[in-house]
Amino acid sequence: MDALRQHLARIQDLRHAAAVLEWDQETHMPSGGAEGRAHQVATLRQVAHETFASDATASLIESASPETEVDADLVRIARRDLARATRLPAPLVGALAEASARAKTAWAEARQDSDWALFGPHLERIVDLTTQKADLLRPLIAEERGAGYAPSDADARYDALLDEYEPGASTTEIAAVFADLRSHLVPLVQDIAARGAVDDEPLYRYVPETIQWELGMEIAYAFGYDLERGRQDLSAHPFTTTFGIDDVRITTRVDPNFFPTALYGTLHEAGHALYEQGISKELARTPLADGTSLGIHESQSRLWENQVGRSRAFWRRHFPAFQSQIGSWMDLNADTVWRACNRVQPSLIRVEADEVTYHLHVLLRFTLERELIAGRLAVGDVPDAWNAGMETLLGIVPETDRDGCLQDIHWSLGALGYFPTYSLGTLMSGQLWDAMGRDLGDLDALVADGEYGAILGWLRENVHQWGRRKTATQILQDATGSGLDAGPWLAYIRDKVESVYG
Ligand code: ZN
Repeated sequence: MDALRQHLARIQDLRHAAAVLEWDQETHMPSGGAEGRAHQVATLRQVAHETFASDATASLIESASPETEVDADLVRIARRDLARATRLPAPLVGALAEASARAKTAWAEARQDSDWALFGPHLERIVDLTTQKADLLRPLIAEERGAGYAPSDADARYDALLDEYEPGASTTEIAAVFADLRSHLVPLVQDIAARGAVDDEPLYRYVPETIQWELGMEIAYAFGYDLERGRQDLSAHPFTTTFGIDDVRITTRVDPNFFPTALYGTLHEAGHALYEQGISKELARTPLADGTSLGIHESQSRLWENQVGRSRAFWRRHFPAFQSQIGSWMDLNADTVWRACNRVQPSLIRVEADEVTYHLHVLLRFTLERELIAGRLAVGDVPDAWNAGMETLLGIVPETDRDGCLQDIHWSLGALGYFPTYSLGTLMSGQLWDAMGRDLGDLDALVADGEYGAILGWLRENVHQWGRRKTATQILQDATGSGLDAGPWLAYIRDKVESVYG
């Protein structure tokens, strides 16, 4: 066990060192450093991969004698990761990395010019390589899931892609969840539209950038984000990164004329960071010290951002601090700001969507990805399919592909199968919040009193400390008594819409 632990710790060190370089690239590096940095990161990632996907790792795993439950979990997860790392031939991994590096640049240009034709050929290559990857991983997934596992050919392929982000997830199950969501949300959005708009003018009032920054950080700190083991910087796109349990960093961006960008960006990323900081210290420098799935990770960010940060109790508690700092807020009150932060309105851009319409954006991407991977949709037909989907689901159509099928970076990165985790995470946040309420009582009262420690403590106990020792399903089962279930989130959102819209 000692030899295996040492070996895996060295690999973690390499990965974390690469993460430091990537973080620096997005936050402080001068643009001229890009090429050298690409080499440095590629070298570190490659050495980490070669050290891990090796006979040495295999023999250390086989000869390890686990003495504790953590040992046993470590061996199990190392074996699982190794099976995946060795299943894909190096030329395919290299081809995917190269294709996505090119696709990322092409996507940025295509988006700028709103020209799908610039990106299309790159996406074709990505879909082709991703399909090859899925077909190589499928037998492994089928073996792990056992005899009852019998999806269609196309779904088996998509399952293999999902598995990288949401281990154990099934396309059929996710499709059923989305069908359920759709049947509730489409009529709800129409209902809301019929009630007239909420005044969202307060969101657009000028708030100086330093004040936005300070207020966001004060709240992240109040939530429990440990600034001796974390920090915030500026970047073009907000993200969270970890260099180990004791150094978990977040980034944000600030728009002086739209404060939700920075505030909710910070609260969202702080939710991710609280998860990483809360992993049990005994898992440090092992592959167990990571989020167990992107869905569970997103449940943490969404819970702090939405269930806490968009609640009326939150605004009643924090509004005075905002008003005392923001000159243009003198005529506002906690309820007007709270209501504005919860307005529901079909919009074109996923990352700016409200809580209700958000899932419909994700559903559109999930549907198109399934069709692409199944070979039923040609890359050239994506823009039309996108616009038709927007019309059906949200009743609006983008005028340009820039505001449509070119808005997200994920496909250029080869990350097909990623989008559904955003919705899964949101639904999981509903389940966890519901279960927490059964354990802790009135959660709004806790928020109103700023008793965030109770909320964080519950999450630490039930979610964070485990790292990858429990699967997403085990975490949900143990914490809430059931597997994935859209019910609690639907009840939460119905409640909120009623209180905002009457
Ligand atoms: Zn997130």
